[in-house]
Formats: sequence, C-alpha cells, structure tokens
Amino acid sequence: MITEFVKKRYGKGLEKCTDMEVYHALLAMTNQMAVEKKTDTGKKKLYYISAEFLIGKLLSNNLINLGIYEEIKAELKEAGKKLASIEELEPEPSLGNGGLGRLAACFLDSMATLGLPGDGIGLNYHFGLFRQVFKKRLQKEVPNPWIEDDSWLIKSERKYKVSFGKCKVTSTLYEVLVTGYDNRTNTLHLFDVDSVDEGMVKKGIDFDKEDIRKNLTLFLYPDDSDDAGRLLRVYQQYFMVSNAAQLILDEAKERGSNLHDLPEYVAIQINDTHPSMVIPELIRLLLEEGINMDEAMDIATKTCAYTNHTILSEALEKWPLAFIEKVAPQIVPIIRELDLCVKDKYDDETVHIIDEEDRVHMAHMDMHYGHSVNGVAYLHTEILKNNELNAFYKIYPEKFNNKTNGITFRRWLLHCNKPLAAFLEETIGDGFKKDAMQLERLLEFQQDEEVAKKLLAIKADNKHKLVKYLKRTQDIKLNENSIFDIQIKRLHEYKRQQLNALYAIHKYLEIKAGKKPDTPITMIFGAKAAPAYTIAKDIIHLILCLQKIVNKDKDVKPYLNIVMVENYNVTLAEKLIPACDISEQISLASKEASGTGNMKFMLNGAVTLGTEDGANVEIHELVGDDNIYIFGEDSDTVIARYERGDYCSRDYYEKNPDLKRAVDFIVSKKMMKVGKKKSLTRLYEELLNKDWFMTFPDYEAYVATKEKAYSDYKDRQAWAKKMLVNIAKAGFFSSDRTIAQYNDDIWHL
Ligand SMILES: *Cc1c(COP(=O)(O)O)cnc(C)c1O
Repeated sequence: MITEFVKKRYGKGLEKCTDMEVYHALLAMTNQMAVEKKTDTGKKKLYYISAEFLIGKLLSNNLINLGIYEEIKAELKEAGKKLASIEELEPEPSLGNGGLGRLAACFLDSMATLGLPGDGIGLNYHFGLFRQVFKKRLQKEVPNPWIEDDSWLIKSERKYKVSFGKCKVTSTLYEVLVTGYDNRTNTLHLFDVDSVDEGMVKKGIDFDKEDIRKNLTLFLYPDDSDDAGRLLRVYQQYFMVSNAAQLILDEAKERGSNLHDLPEYVAIQINDTHPSMVIPELIRLLLEEGINMDEAMDIATKTCAYTNHTILSEALEKWPLAFIEKVAPQIVPIIRELDLCVKDKYDDETVHIIDEEDRVHMAHMDMHYGHSVNGVAYLHTEILKNNELNAFYKIYPEKFNNKTNGITFRRWLLHCNKPLAAFLEETIGDGFKKDAMQLERLLEFQQDEEVAKKLLAIKADNKHKLVKYLKRTQDIKLNENSIFDIQIKRLHEYKRQQLNALYAIHKYLEIKAGKKPDTPITMIFGAKAAPAYTIAKDIIHLILCLQKIVNKDKDVKPYLNIVMVENYNVTLAEKLIPACDISEQISLASKEASGTGNMKFMLNGAVTLGTEDGANVEIHELVGDDNIYIFGEDSDTVIARYERGDYCSRDYYEKNPDLKRAVDFIVSKKMMKVGKKKSLTRLYEELLNKDWFMTFPDYEAYVATKEKAYSDYKDRQAWAKKMLVNIAKAGFFSSDRTIAQYNDDIWHL
C-alpha cells in the first residue's frame, strides 16, 4: 500500500526513504483515504464550537480508524522501518489546555465513529498552548510551534471578513479531517487570520498584545492577568464565533435551509462559555438576512445548547460591556436587547445578563437563549441544579440535563495500549471495539488465574516501556519494580497536587525515620500551570524540590522516587496511563466537574485513589467498594463549610502533629537549600492561612487510604482482580455513549 504510494511520490523504494519522507507520505495517503469517506448525508448537522481541541498526534489514530494500522506496520517492517519511530516525528498540536479540549477531541472521534454529521469549529493557534520547560526547578514557558509545511491542515477556499471596532480582518479556513472508526469522515474547521505574524513573539511567550491583526491566532488563551490580555481573549472569541456563524449559515443555505427553518438544519453545541457570543452574532446575521428580532431570537434559542464545565466562579466568564463595545460594537445592541427581555420578566438580579457593574455574564446568556444546559457528570449536574445555577433551574427545569463525559476507546485503549487491546480481543472477542459495554464479558474471568497473570504481565511490560521512554526522552530514571502512583492533570489548587506532595513529604520523613515500605513507591506528577497562576507554579516548585531532595538521598531512594515529567501532554499521557497502578483523582469534593483522566486510567487497569467527586462517584458505583480507594469529605460537607465560611486550616495544623511536620518541611533548611525562599514561603503561608481548597481536613484520611492501597498491592492476585473489574466496568465511559446521549436528548441528528 505505502510502498506504491511512496514510489509514485518520490520515485524510489520504501527502504530508500528517510523516516521523515515516509511520515509525509503516510500523512498524504491517510488524508486521501479519509477524504473518500466524507459524506453529506443527513439534513441536520451539529457544530461543536470550542476554543480548544486537544487532538494529540493523528497518524496512528487515523491508521487505526481507517483499518490499515497492522497492514502498514507490517509493510514498513519489511522495508526495515519502524512505525513507532515514524510516529515520533509528528509534532503534537497543543490546541488545548487540558480536559475540556481533550473532551472536544474525543467527541469528534465519536461523532465520526457513530456516523453522525458533526463538525468542530475552533481556532488555528500557531503556537498553541506553551511548551513547559523546567529551569532551576521552576516552570518556564516557551512557544510550541506545531504547524509544518506538510501537516494535517488542509487550506480551504473559504474566506470570511470579520469586523472589529477598530479594524476589519480576513480569515482563512483550515480543515483537519476527522476519521471515524470504520465509518465516515467529519471535519474540524480551524480559522486563522490572514495577517498573523509569528515574528512578533519576542522572549519566551511575550508579544505585543495590542496588535490584534498580527497576534489574534498566535496563542491559546494568552496570559489574561492584565486588561490587554483579557481584551485579546474577547477578540479571539468574537473572531471564532463570527467565522463560525458565517460558515454555519452558508452551509445550511447550501443544504437548502431558508434560515427560518434553521433549527431543522443546524444544532450548535457551545463548549463552555468561550463561544457564547455566537448567540448574538447569529441573531445579528439573521437580522441582516431580513428576519425580525423575535424570530431571530427564537431561531438562535432552538439552535444553540450550552455545556457547563465548572462551578468555579472565577472560570465563569463575565466580560465588561466596554470590552465587547471595543471588540464588536455591532453585537452590543443585541446583547442589550436580550438582557432587557430577561429584565422584563425577572426581577432577580442574579439571572440578568448585564449586571449592575455593566458586565456581561456569558453563561446567563447561554441559559436564557439556548434550549439545553448540561453538566458533565451526575454529581456536577446535581450541584448545578441545586446550588450554583439553582435560580436558572427554577426558571427552566426542562433545559437542564446531564451528559457524563467519556473518552474515545480508539485512542485510550486500541492505540495507547495495544498489548491490552490484543489480550482483550483474545479473551472476549472484538465486539468491545464498537460496543464498549461488551468489556463486561471480562467479569466472567474474575477467578481465572491465567487472565490475572496476563493482566499483571501486560502492566509490567507497559511500566518497562515507560521507564525506557522517560530515560531516553527526559533522562529520568525509574525503578520499574515499584508501585507507579500517578497524578497527571493541569496544575490547579482544587485538583490538590499539594495534598499528594504533603504525602510525599510524610513518606520521605517516615522512611528517614526507618519505616520502610514493603514495596518501593514511585510518585509521578505531570502538570502545566497557567503562566500567571503564582501558587500553582509554587506547587510545581515544591514538587521539583522534593524530587531533588528525595532522589539524591541514599537512605530513601531505594524506597521512594518522586518525579515530575516535563511538558505533560497527550503524547505523554498515552505512555503514562497504560503503566499506572494507582490513579490519583483527589480533587476537593464538588470542585472537579467530571474528570476524564480518571476514565482513561480505569480503562487501562489502574485502580483509582480518589474523592467522591466528578465522575469518580460513577466509577465508584460501577466498580464497588472493593475496587476503588475512596477517602475524604463528601461534597455536601464541603459545600456546607463554604457556606458557613468558618474554615480555619491552622486548627487542623495545630491538632495533627504529622500534618504539621509535613507542612513545616516546606520551609525547612533542607528545602531552602534547593528551592527559592520566596516561593516556598508563599506556599507555606497560603496553606496555613487560607488553604481555600481544604487539603488539611482530608489529609489524615488520604494518608491512611493510600497506605491501605500500597499494602493491598502486595497481594498480586487480588490486585489483578481489581484491575480486571476496573477494565470490565469502563464501557460506560466510552464517549460513544456520551455522544449517543447528546444526539438523543439535544441534537436529534
Ligand atoms: C485527559 C487529559 C486531561 C484531563 O485530565 P483530568 O485528570 O481529567 O483533569 C488533561 N490533559 C491531557 C493531556 C489529557 O490527555
């Protein structure tokens, strides 16, 4: 297959080609095959608008979805080439921050796999999110250019004009083909501004934030710690939705819509509040087409649906009306009109769109002028209904619904853990590849010692591969015969890496005092912090200092290893997750909307150590008490404490000598020797005087539960059974299930 393709392209044999040439040939060949699977069936189409699509590398996934992975691998092998080495040449596009962007990517895969007409719309950030490097145990940010002459981006003919208050820009549309598993191909539409100038990035990721003609699509979420950065974000958002609305209306007309019947042709899913301005923009364009305001509002409402991803109030966007006036004055009268209609009906100020300080509450606009509001896990949706968005729930109970997140099993099992996928196929047949619920068949083998042995052997092999990979790429040395206890996710106080770090200190001091663990432990962290999030960076610094201290301590090193991998991204996740024994999901109960990392780990046979938060609640229910380690206060307790406002972290510190010892260690002489005094002191003070995400109340239970998990790990047979149950019960978390529910309840494609 590829041999012939290469011959035509380069006029030489496969064995004579460089890996880079083979990569480019594979890219072209898969795109050719994918394009043939584009179809225009179905009247109605879904547009998933999102500021982020964390798609990861595409080559291997596309080969799997097109059903040619094994064939290509064999063909390359015959010519003395390794597919794995070729895959490494592909740069990872970093078009997302974390879970929210990765979810959007999983959804695209599932829509194509289910044969649904559903496209993504986003922005073509040239440098994406920053690349993280560690210097002197501190995070530094550098640009991550990922666009090459030959890439997955296909330049389209479509061009649009977008008017800002101070200027007009032209956009170009790029397309990335989204292959479904043994099914159709959909499209990810990424808009770019023609006048973009990569040359304006100076030191690190600094650039002139005012020059929007040149900087609009340089970075994902540029630093918004100052007004210029915040304003740029609004520019980006309006640029995205104005292009989106134009594309959507054009395509609907091409398919025969007269715009009055738009909801029969189009469904729009607003992924978090970043694309919210699509509502007034759509209304504006409908008005220009001669439709009156009442009808335009009605059409927008019937077309748009909103997904909420967080209850953290600082993440619910509220833009000053003055910003929108500057960016897109043409939609301001529409937003004012939408707000007036709300104010006419409801006196309750908490549901108004424009508040008394003239700030626009984006989520409020979505809920009034969309027909659906969904949370992303059972607990999250309940909290939205009963607490955070209760005022809206009372007005629109029929709009609220839950869609528990999911992950695509193509990437997070078939691609990243081929030995496990092959073993599952051998054991329960290949039906699980299209129907994830069939994984439950594995439960029949709970007592089967051979199956247990095999699961343990696959895990051991994955750990071995990870150790080699980290040695080669990051010069990290790990003991593959230790417990791999992994916490990888964005760095945020609510996710509580600091709690895990306190445990690390506790364990270090215990070992120093002679209490050695039966099985050596490796604690692995991976996390990027937002560039302006000081405390998050302090926590990274803490972990990197601990890494230094612990790993050079001869007494401790044989028993405990702490590492933080650099630049955690999808590629690293694909290596780390299959090698994990214990999956750390320890967010403060009520704060993690869902989590999807937790699902990836479970599917790959890791056992969760977590709080009753997000989708952990559903994992717990599925696997039962014996196959998960749950600890900590529940969401009701936490929410009640926030309401009382009487949390005092110092009380816990004073009462628990073990906790005090761990916290004090942060500012100990040993730490000051390797770390920065200012950073460590700031973190120490923060924990002692605020600890907003309540790590101290959960500390004792966390330590005890972790010790229990480590001790249970010794009974390998019993542990293998836990792994098996986790894999068997993971089917519910396939994003195919999630997407089927979105379609049944919201989109009706
Ligand atoms: C899945 C994933 C996430 C989300 O992880 P959570 O633990 O759910 O926050 C973040 N980043 C990457 C690279 C991922 O693959």
